[in-house]
Amino acid sequence: MTRIQRLIKEAKESCTFRGHQMKPFSHKYKKWSSSECMVCGMICNVNADPAPNEIDICGEAVALHCRYEGEPDPMETIVEENRFEIY
Ligand SMILES: [Zn+2]
Repeated sequence: MTRIQRLIKEAKESCTFRGHQMKPFSHKYKKWSSSECMVCGMICNVNADPAPNEIDICGEAVALHCRYEGEPDPMETIVEENRFEIY
């Protein structure tokens, strides 16, 4: 397994842990790959040859949970409250 393949595997695991459903990671470049979540659109970048000030796995998708898990969407909450008042 190459370094980029290993990093992609790690990135996928991190994104899945956060509830994302990632599109297949691109294999267009030897040392760089990215994907985005099909549900919320957050991205994940993988860099197999990072500069000293860069990190190998980054992006919203590894830092934040998918927005359809955990905290409810504030807009949905408002809709539900309005519906409640009608009845
Ligand atoms: Zn997501």
